[in-house]
Parts: sequence; structure tokens; C-alpha cells
Amino acid sequence: AEAQLRQVQKMEAVGQLTGGIAHDFNNMLAVVVGGIDLARRRLNGPRREIMTHLNNAMEGATRAAALTRRLLSFARSEPLLPDSVDPAELVTGMSDLLDRTIGERIQVEVDAVPGTWPIYVDSHQLENAIVNLAVNARDAMEGVGRMQVSTRNVTLAAGEIGDVQAGDYVRISVSDTGCGMAPEVIERAFEPFFTTKPVGKGTGLGLSQIFGFAHQSGGEVGIESVVGKGTTVSIYLPRSAAPAVTTAAMGMMQDQDDV
Ligand code: ADP
Repeated sequence: AEAQLRQVQKMEAVGQLTGGIAHDFNNMLAVVVGGIDLARRRLNGPRREIMTHLNNAMEGATRAAALTRRLLSFARSEPLLPDSVDPAELVTGMSDLLDRTIGERIQVEVDAVPGTWPIYVDSHQLENAIVNLAVNARDAMEGVGRMQVSTRNVTLAAGEIGDVQAGDYVRISVSDTGCGMAPEVIERAFEPFFTTKPVGKGTGLGLSQIFGFAHQSGGEVGIESVVGKGTTVSIYLPRSAAPAVTTAAMGMMQDQDDV
């Protein structure tokens, strides 16, 4: 029943997308048809002109193919496999990966104090979400700046962030000293396929996937940003009752098994 519900939610999300995508796809098809039509009319004209029309058609077709590929990979998004996670340990364990993702010229500071509450989430998807936020931070900084990843325990009132329910949460934030986001960009940032990046660079799926992941995990996502100063994107995940299974504890359990 869980899996079916997820499937229904996924198809609903895909359904909401189709309107906008059908529109974009039609525009690309119009370029393809237009290019072929012009080439056909100019068959007796100069070769270079025919080539230009055919190249335009080819480019339209390539863009349409890229669009459907993105849509398919979005619709196929992985089901969640939640487990008990120690957020501070997870984030600390990512610092090398983040250093490599961000490049040498940007400092990465990991501020994860031990003692954050355990959470019950899909750890791979949480790691993907953090990497996605780091890539956005890198893109916003154009090579220079500081990035900070932090974990904190927070108690939220109902609706304090988005649609959040009142309760205890762990906040995982990625902050950058980049270009910041204008209010109209923040407003649309969670929309699938919304991007301000050049074609081929941004997919516009990062934040929408993080939003989906946070909501499916009972949490929320918040954006604070000042144009020209920087951005903080925070994922709020509900505190879980069970203590997190740390890798140290797992090692001990294995030791016990050996006895
Ligand atoms: P993508 O990164 O592929 O464009 P996202 O959904 O991750 O897709 O982000 C959507 C848009 O939100 C980006 O194109 C960018 O305009 C804006 N954005 C996201 N993160 C940041 C950030 N840290 N700083 C500035 N702008 C950002």
C-alpha cells in the first residue's frame, strides 16, 4: 500500500509537469518541423543554406530528446529506503566528498556538533540532496567564496517553515557567499525544471527533488537569501524516537556477532 501511494504521488507530480513540458516540447518540435520545411523548399538553393536549416532542425530534436530524458529520470525517481541516521556523523563523513565537489578555491567548513538528534531517512538520498545543494552553492560563487554545511537541533512551531508540523527537527543547512536569489527566483526555485542556468548546465530538478525528498520524509525545506550576499538552504527532518545506529555502534554489533 505504501509503494502504491508513492506511485500515485509520483504520477500526480508527473501529471502536474506535463502541461508545461508539452508546451516546451511543442516549441522544440516547431523548430524541427520549421527547419525541415525550409530545407525542403530550398532544395535547389545553396548547400550552406540547406545545411543551416537542417542543423536548426537537428538542434531542436536534440533538445527535445534531452527534455524527455530528464522527464523519464524524474518519473523513475528512487523509492525511499529509510534508516536511522546520525546527521552530524553523516555530514562529517561527507567533508572530503564536498571538498572535491566544490573545488580547491572554495573553502568548505563543516559545522556538525555531535549530539544532533537521530533522524529516520534514506541516507543515500540525504547525501545526494547535500551534494546538490553544494553544487548550487559552487555555481552561485563563480570560483571564490566560502561554503558552510551545518547540522542543528531545532524545535519548530506549526507552519514556521513552509507547511511544517510543530515538533523537533534536525536542520541541515548549506550556506554560501554567492550571488544570492531574487524573491521571484526563490518563489519558483522548487518548481521542477525551473532554472536560471544556461541550457546544458542546469536541469532545474535539484531543488524540486530535495523538496520531494524532505516532504516524503516528513520534513521541509527553507531558503534564506540576500542578493549579492549569499544563500542558505536548509533541510528540516523530523527527530526520530530511536537512537541512530552509528558506524561505531555497528562495528561493536559485528564484534559481538563474532563472539
Ligand atoms: P539547477 O541548479 O539545475 O538550476 P535547482 O532546482 O537546483 O536547479 O535550482 C533552481 C534555481 O534556483 C537555480 O537555477 C538558481 O537560479 C537558484 N539557486 C539554487 N540554489 C542557489 C544558490 N545557492 N544561490 C543562488 N541561486 C540558487
